[in-house]
Amino acid sequence: MAILTSQQLTGRISSHVQPLPSLSWHLHPQAAAAFAALVADAARQGIDLAVASAFRDFNRQLAIWNGKFRGEQPLLDRRGVRLDISAMDEEAIVRAILQWSALPGASRHHWGSEIDVFDRAALAPGARPRLIPEEYASDGVFAGLTGFLQRNAARHGFFLPYDRERGGTQPEPWHLSFAPLSVPALRALTLPVLSEALQDAPLDGAAVVRRLLPEIYERYVLRVAPAPPQTLAPQASPQ
Ligand SMILES: [Zn+2]
Repeated sequence: MAILTSQQLTGRISSHVQPLPSLSWHLHPQAAAAFAALVADAARQGIDLAVASAFRDFNRQLAIWNGKFRGEQPLLDRRGVRLDISAMDEEAIVRAILQWSALPGASRHHWGSEIDVFDRAALAPGARPRLIPEEYASDGVFAGLTGFLQRNAARHGFFLPYDRERGGTQPEPWHLSFAPLSVPALRALTLPVLSEALQDAPLDGAAVVRRLLPEIYERYVLRVAPAPPQTLAPQASPQ
């Protein structure tokens, strides 16, 4: 399986991804092929597996980060209540952004192996998913999708890295990761690689981020679910 370069790992170049057929999102071709098989599998079970997000580059993540830091986009607390950034110091703002958004360079979405999914068949025509855990719970609109992923994702190489609260990124039951790419990518994304990617970036709060970087790296990069062994030897077969 392809090994990504430091530039690719941190989203600064996009030579490792390609457009998905008929979609506006990009993915690594190996993840795209596995995802196509998962989509076909889902369709046989009445699930219209749709993409809410896939590859995002460094600059896209940087725009999200700076927009929140400057108060141009709403900054929410853990309960989803809007925060007043004028009453917060830079470290508090950085910590609040990290509750919901990855640091540029540290997003798994840079790798082309990650896909946020929902079931379009479970929504009213034209309705958008909110991407909140309640939708994916056993009594939520996407409960059928959650069950499908539990039964089928691993044999296609996919798992949920944000399966539960681990002291870092909040649980994201919609975030699929293609292990044959993402396991080596996580290993290759070392603290020095991340640090180098941020060096000359026009990142708001850069001094605070630099000071907190070892902690941010440990909590928001490393604290994820391990890939189940089956995902690294996918045996996708039609059923
Ligand atoms: Zn995601």
